[in-house]
Amino acid sequence: MAPEDDYTAQPFVPDRGGLTALRKAAADCRGCPLHRNATQTVFGAGTADARVMLVGEQPGDQEDRQGRPFVGPAGKLLDRALAEAGLDPADAYVTNAVKHFKFTQAEPRKRRIHKAPTLREMTACGPWPAAEPARVEPELIVVLGATAGKALLGPSFRVTQVRGTVLEEEIHGRPETLVPTVHPPPALGFARAGRYPQAVLRADDRESAYRGLVSDLEVAARALS
Ligand code: SF4
Repeated sequence: MAPEDDYTAQPFVPDRGGLTALRKAAADCRGCPLHRNATQTVFGAGTADARVMLVGEQPGDQEDRQGRPFVGPAGKLLDRALAEAGLDPADAYVTNAVKHFKFTQAEPRKRRIHKAPTLREMTACGPWPAAEPARVEPELIVVLGATAGKALLGPSFRVTQVRGTVLEEEIHGRPETLVPTVHPPPALGFARAGRYPQAVLRADDRESAYRGLVSDLEVAARALS
């Protein structure tokens, strides 16, 4: 494994080929140490000609086991929020900024607890979420939370300052339209499933958090139409 400063997925990202080639290459990524303890790479899922791309943080326990992003309660809730905002979940491509599950585990066979990726790990994995929009060519990218924002737009990104607004930014040479919002699980209490316990303590009004998510997604829906 390369020294920490040299962690990067870049050598694993193919210059040519579509989404299928990208997904196949990502399965063998060894750009940082996160692949060592995870079950598998969890690449993006959804239609290759999606109008909307949603970028979350990293896979959780269930995503790691099943190999698909946004499965389980978080995915269901996101689908509900998308539909309520007027966005068709079937016309979305969902992915994460970091492709391997990072966790802590007190003992083998104990529950795996989500651990936030470091800036170095986000940066290492950055070539994957940067390559996906170039293949899918979405009309709009919904940025789900701070990690996805920092991975796509740089370390100065602050989701609280820009959520629910339409941003026009260049990402790896491509002009993109983006709408940031919060990552659904921490705001809405999915710590019961083992993720983000620190965030759920702050979410004293889940309904209000959900309405905030839908409201931000409505901004995305209006930007699309
Ligand atoms: S987290 Fe990203 S950079 Fe690290 S090994 Fe996985 S795919 Fe590669």
